[in-house]
Order: sequence, then C-alpha cells, then structure tokens
Amino acid sequence: MKVIEAKNITKVYNADKVPVNALRGVSFSVDKGEFTAIVGPSGCGKSTLLNIVGGLDSPSEGEITIDGKDLSNLKENKLIDFRLNKIGFVFQSYNLIPVLTAKENISLIMELQGLSKKARDDRAMELLKAVGLEGKEHKKPSELSGGQQQRVAVARALASEPSFILADEPTANLDSVSTNNLLDIMAEMNREKGTTFIFSTHDQRVINKARRVIKLDDGLIVSDDNMVLNP
Ligand code: ADP
Ligand code: ADP
Repeated sequence: MKVIEAKNITKVYNADKVPVNALRGVSFSVDKGEFTAIVGPSGCGKSTLLNIVGGLDSPSEGEITIDGKDLSNLKENKLIDFRLNKIGFVFQSYNLIPVLTAKENISLIMELQGLSKKARDDRAMELLKAVGLEGKEHKKPSELSGGQQQRVAVARALASEPSFILADEPTANLDSVSTNNLLDIMAEMNREKGTTFIFSTHDQRVINKARRVIKLDDGLIVSDDNMVLNP
C-alpha cells in the first residue's frame, strides 16, 4: 500500500533576489513500512522535501498524496489534525518547549489527542526508558545535553504512535551509543508496528541500516536503490 505519492514536485524559494530552485521535479512513492534514507550534499533539497512531505510547506508545483489524501486540498484545520495524528516529526527546527519538562514535552501531543492522565504518564515513562532517559523526566530541555534533547524529540515523535515518522538528520547531535539506541528503537517500531520511516542523513551508520536510499543532488533524484527484498 502506498502511503506517499509525490509527483513532479518543484520548490522555488523567492526570499532572496535570485530565486532558488530547491526541488526541480521530484517523483517517488513510498510503501507502508519502508525504512528509507534521503541522502545528498548539503543544500540539495533534503529538508525542503521532508517539509513538503510532512505538510509543513507546500510545493511550488506538483502533487503530494499521503494515505490517498491530496495535501493541497486539505483545509488548514484538517492539515493540522492530519499532522498531529498521522505524522511524527523529528526536525531540528521542531524544538522542544523550554518551559516544559522532558515528560511534559512528550505528553503534550497525547493530551491533544485526548488520552487520560494515567495513559499519558505510562506511555511517556515507557518512551523515556526506551530512549535511555529514565530518571530525566523532570528535566527541562536546558538541563539536558543536545543529544538528550534529541532523544526527547524522538520520544515525542513516537508518543502519538504515528503511522509514519519523518526525521531530518535524526542522529546529527548523537554520540555513537545514542545513535545505535535510536536506530534500534526505530527498527523495532518499523518491525513491530509497521511504522514507515523516512529520514535524511549524512551518517554512514544510519545509511547502512536503510532498506532504501534515495539520493538527491541539486533538487533532483539521481539514484533510488530500493532494497526492500524481504519485507
Ligand atoms: P538540505 O536539507 O539538503 O541541506 P535544503 O532543503 O535545506 O537542503 O535547501 C535546499 C536549497 O534551498 C538550498 O540552496 C537552501 O539554501 C535553499 N533554501 C532552503 N530553505 C530556504 C528558505 N526558507 N528560503 C530560501 N532558500 C531556502
Ligand atoms: P539543513 O541542516 O537541513 O541543511 P539548513 O541549514 O539548510 O538545513 O537550513 C536550516 C533552516 O534555514 C531551514 O528551516 C531552511 O528552510 C532555512 N533556510 C535555509 N537556507 C535558507 C535561505 N537561503 N534563506 C532562508 N532560509 C533558509
């Protein structure tokens, strides 16, 4: 089953005097349960593509369907609802809320989804344990290291049990132990819940775990190795 279909996506940024063609006609589809890395040099359009796939930004041209829904036809409130319930984001720009503790940051989305206090607490503690932050539940982001904050962001993305997770350089601030822990958590969710993962990365260890690698260069897909042989 296709969860994402992108057809001829282009993105032009007009912020500066000279327009930037960040994406120049990108088409691909993603099946449920994929574990896909988007790679390529800095500035090739990885973040732009993830933003568009997640409905955080709209393409200049082209069509993007998620779970059969055309994102451009969704009204803003539907789009927010959709992002909240279907997609987990692990984005560098998606910062933690500084006045909330690690546990509160993770619980917030579940509160918005209407889970009971008990259910939220149980799940938050389970996730904190999974990302190796047991005992840090009452720490605010400023009291945690960059890598620990990243793991809180990951736990927050997993909290809503989204059907797919978009991650922009999820291991960029992690040491090798945390990188391995995170990859284990992602692989387990992928295996046991069928969660679809799409992540951009420069990290060879992360690329090695991917079952499909889409390579971008200058706003175009230059290779796409679909290695999903034994799903
Ligand atoms: P990557 O994630 O691969 O580093 P980006 O998607 O961030 O690539 O950027 C692709 C190109 O678009 C770059 O040239 C970048 O400078 C430009 N770009 C990204 N975001 C913006 C923006 N908000 N305004 C103007 N240009 C942007
Ligand atoms: P990445 O780490 O993915 O390469 P960047 O450092 O390219 O990300 O961009 C970080 C943020 O700045 C992104 O939100 C991007 O949209 C924005 N950005 C990137 N390039 C530009 C630009 N030339 N003008 C305005 N915003 C930009």
